[in-house]
Amino acid sequence: MPSPASPVGSTTGLRSSLHDRGQRLTPQRQKVLELFERIGEGSHLGAEEVHQRLLRSEERVSLATVYRTLRLLSGMGLLQELELPEGGRRFELASDAHRDHHHLVCVRCGRTEEFENTEVLAAGEQAACSHGFRLLECVLNVRALCPDCAAG
Ligand SMILES: [Zn+2]
Ligand SMILES: [Zn+2]
Repeated sequence: MPSPASPVGSTTGLRSSLHDRGQRLTPQRQKVLELFERIGEGSHLGAEEVHQRLLRSEERVSLATVYRTLRLLSGMGLLQELELPEGGRRFELASDAHRDHHHLVCVRCGRTEEFENTEVLAAGEQAACSHGFRLLECVLNVRALCPDCAAG
């Protein structure tokens, strides 16, 4: 997990990865990526939250641009997209070291907690294998109510 003290190395990694795909790293894409790098792995943000944070750091950017940028970055594999039936879409930094984890999502407020479970991974692997599929990713999203929302 990259510490906040060493964002330079990972940014370089992302830049070269963008470069590999022949895409130009526009300042806006860079800003959005840097935002995710600053908050670190394991944080899940919706487009509105990304927009709010950019505005707070005095970036003039429209919500529509944020949506487009998020979609583009996840299409490039730099962000991972988490689709929630009620809470819309959330994005997190994609990383090989932080790949196979699962999410516990509150359907009311969108609070998202991560967890790991080797049995889920084993089940995914076994299912893929038995159908002759090659496993790429195995993520379980659990819809639930957080304690606050369950109490309300
Ligand atoms: Zn996650
Ligand atoms: Zn909740």
